[in-house]
Amino acid sequence: MDLAVYVHVPFCVDRCVYCDFVTVRYEPAWRRLYVRVLLQEIRRWADRLPDRVVRSVYFGGGTPGVLHPDEIGQVLDALRSAWLIAEDAEITVETTPWAVTASKLQGLRDLGVNRISVGIQAYDDDLLAAMGRVHRRRHIERAVERLRAGTWNWNADLILGYPGQTRTRWQSTVRRLLQDAPPHVSLYILEVHESTPLGRWVAAGTVRPPSDAWVERAWRWAYVQFRRAGYRFYEVSNLARPGFESRHNLTYWRLDDYLGLGMGAHSCVGPYRWQNPAAWLDYSRMVLQGETPAFTFRDRRERLRERILLGLRTRWGIPDRWLRLYHGSDDGWRVFLQEAVRQGWLRLDRGRLRATPAGWFRLMTLYEGLGVA
Ligand code: SF4
Repeated sequence: MDLAVYVHVPFCVDRCVYCDFVTVRYEPAWRRLYVRVLLQEIRRWADRLPDRVVRSVYFGGGTPGVLHPDEIGQVLDALRSAWLIAEDAEITVETTPWAVTASKLQGLRDLGVNRISVGIQAYDDDLLAAMGRVHRRRHIERAVERLRAGTWNWNADLILGYPGQTRTRWQSTVRRLLQDAPPHVSLYILEVHESTPLGRWVAAGTVRPPSDAWVERAWRWAYVQFRRAGYRFYEVSNLARPGFESRHNLTYWRLDDYLGLGMGAHSCVGPYRWQNPAAWLDYSRMVLQGETPAFTFRDRRERLRERILLGLRTRWGIPDRWLRLYHGSDDGWRVFLQEAVRQGWLRLDRGRLRATPAGWFRLMTLYEGLGVA
């Protein structure tokens, strides 16, 4: 059976003001210890999930780019001892522009890494500084030059909706990214989390994010530019040139099996979901004592609901019979479906239901109206 593996590397040199991911401040000694615990965690899962074929490995973070290639190599070796890694497996390392050096790229390539994901976010130095990012435009330019020189398959992350991101800035960021021509783009709309410094500033009224209407207009403008340049949105936040869709990302949206390793990592295997402890002490104790996190069991109906939610995020949509299956004799959702089609939020075509770009902007409304929220 196939398996996708996510490896969480929580280290960041500094904490961005909008970030609510599981991260810790970068410490070389801690980094080495963390890798040792990861190796132990892989060995434990090898016994619990035997006979799997790994089709993708994704080092995410945090900033996995701060790991030494040798350490990435140790993790990959442990994965290869635990399972068969498919010859054409997609192996991605997420990084940040300042950490993209020629020697690191070469080291990663020698290990079999074949995809790099770079957190560009924006091209304006003052916006990057406001976000608390460590990198600047000059780092992006150098990183892109190296990725292109090495003909890498790479992804660029962009953020839309950051306070201070004017229309001119957004448009010049998108135009510049199109010149840099990454095969894949992850375009995230900023979510403001209460627990972050940005969340507190927004709550206090000292910083004001752009309105939803502004963000939708900016997103639709970018949608058209990317489409014209040959990109295809295959998920609400992800677009790629044909053939460069991320195999690892698709695992999540198709609800195939994935195993998350490291602090706070999520897993989904068959009917079970679980999350590793997010705190270092709890996580390392769990691994070293051979314990497992608490599993959540989802019955068939719940998994069908998840498939509907995730499927509507993608360009493939869902078979409309899934809604009939999910709701049984209750057909209250049909009235909403007709209205959503009339509004241009959903399209029903030969038994498949797809969200349109306007629908992707109203996913919560769609989920509620279809009775699957
Ligand atoms: S680099 Fe990424 S993971 Fe690290 S603090 Fe910034 S947003 Fe969070």
